[in-house]
Amino acid sequence: MTKTVAALQEEMTAKGIDWLFLTPSPNFRYVTGYKALPLERLTLLMLPSVGIPKMIVPRLEFILAKEHVKIECEIESFSETDNAIDIVSTIASGTVAVDPYMWSEKLLKFQGHMANSTFIDATSLINVVRTVKSEAEIAALVEAGRAIDWVHEQVSAMAFLGRTEREIGEDIKALIFESGHETVDFVIVASGPNSASPHHEVSDRILEEGDVVVVDIGGTMPSGYCSDCTRTYVVKQIDPTFQHYYDILQNAQIKAVDGSLIGVSCEDLDSIARNILKEADLSDYFIHRTGHGIGLQTHEDPYIVQGNKHKLVEGNAFSIEPGFYIEGKYGARIEDIVISTSNGPINCNNRPRNLIVVH
Ligand code: ZN
Ligand code: ZN
Repeated sequence: MTKTVAALQEEMTAKGIDWLFLTPSPNFRYVTGYKALPLERLTLLMLPSVGIPKMIVPRLEFILAKEHVKIECEIESFSETDNAIDIVSTIASGTVAVDPYMWSEKLLKFQGHMANSTFIDATSLINVVRTVKSEAEIAALVEAGRAIDWVHEQVSAMAFLGRTEREIGEDIKALIFESGHETVDFVIVASGPNSASPHHEVSDRILEEGDVVVVDIGGTMPSGYCSDCTRTYVVKQIDPTFQHYYDILQNAQIKAVDGSLIGVSCEDLDSIARNILKEADLSDYFIHRTGHGIGLQTHEDPYIVQGNKHKLVEGNAFSIEPGFYIEGKYGARIEDIVISTSNGPINCNNRPRNLIVVH
């Protein structure tokens, strides 16, 4: 974490930013290690471009902060009758990069009290550092991948026929907890025609023989790092046309995973999957980007999408999840979390990617 502070300060100096202000958020947790709650009382990390960071916390959270903050930091508390914004404005001024997750109520107060300061969005500053995962973060993502793989392994042996998506979803939720996740972030069980809707969650639809079932699940581990993995199942029997489309999708997904190499741009990586589906006239049915970054949040930079010219660097972590969605009929998606490294891509998800027949 101290390395993170040094990297941020280097970026800040290069960009002429005097202060970075973070309130409780994934960015705050990323920099400090402290999972603080965003509340009406101000909790603020004030990181100067040079020197030791300061944290302002309500007096009743002082012990918590001292216990959980993992960086070298001066922690100052304020009482219920102090004006925390005044305290901040006597310490900081200049160009202040602000957490994009800061409540506007707080930002507006800072702007009102610090008339001589300029406030800018800290997103690009933070992302330069946050998108490059450390060894510990990579290990945490691999651990999350292993846990969600275990869930998919259990799903492949589950009863599907005659049960509702909701019932199956409840079983999967329990399995996600059992696998070691701290929270369940989403459970998609999209069966039959519902599989053509990428963000369908669950419904009371009863599963029938021949149904395609897209199962996209994820949660957050105690480390704070997220899992996200999709496999496509079929109930008892496979439609040959669907199998043909699926084989093309599987090829597209594998080629994109293999193509997740350092130096490849995010848009070119998107094209690898998109072009394979295009050759089979399926590109009109591939209606979303190929993937999204992942870490302390399920969706973060870098996005694997046309227009994103970012070239992959060591430690970028993201999903590769092409799909096709034919309204009224069926859809499919295959999703793995991949990390680009100098030794080639690490795939965090290692369950079979072929169509899985369930009963
Ligand atoms: Zn997903
Ligand atoms: Zn995803």
